[in-house]
Amino acid sequence: MDRRVKGKILFVLVQLLVLAALLVWSPWKKKERVYMSVNIEMEQAGDIPIVNDYLPWDHVRRPGEIRDIMYLTIHETDNWSGTADASAHDAWLHSSTDSPNSWHYTVDDHCVYHHLPDNEVAWNAGDGRTPGGGNMNGIGIEMCVNEGSDYEQTLRNTAVLCAQLLHNYGLTVDDIRFHADFMDKLCPRRLISDGRVEEFLQMVRDDLALVEQ
Ligand SMILES: [Zn+2]
Repeated sequence: MDRRVKGKILFVLVQLLVLAALLVWSPWKKKERVYMSVNIEMEQAGDIPIVNDYLPWDHVRRPGEIRDIMYLTIHETDNWSGTADASAHDAWLHSSTDSPNSWHYTVDDHCVYHHLPDNEVAWNAGDGRTPGGGNMNGIGIEMCVNEGSDYEQTLRNTAVLCAQLLHNYGLTVDDIRFHADFMDKLCPRRLISDGRVEEFLQMVRDDLALVEQ
């Protein structure tokens, strides 16, 4: 074979090899996201006190399964009773054993209760054991709507908590979900019914910018 033809073939082969190598190892390839699976305990979010009062290990509402943290899942308690604040929901979670359902945080207009470590599964999204789903990978956050409470302040407190959690676990506002995203249920009912989902997300975005300053 002509040396020039051989040279050309070799040149093409080397180019193909380089191309194949780049396809296998591409610095431009989208990096796989890495999620955290630790519990970062806080005493407060902004200036809102957090009471860490975990359900005991053997409680039916504490499955105790460690998982990756991929979302925050926002709920509302839908409990309009005047006494149904965060403290009351914490007490209820501890005393009630008739269901395995639970969540991680309850927020009212003056404080936050933390019921389960953030890196543990809690049944609150209604999507079973779906891999990458709300139950398996979300931090469940309930907002109180109790009569006589200041719902606007509860929203602000929840936004501050969300911003801090997003920051702690390397998440973004795009990682916020609502209960309704995981199942056919109008939750958080008031927030969705009042058409304020976008407004809430913007509150979190603003708070996150402050946290990450
Ligand atoms: Zn819900």
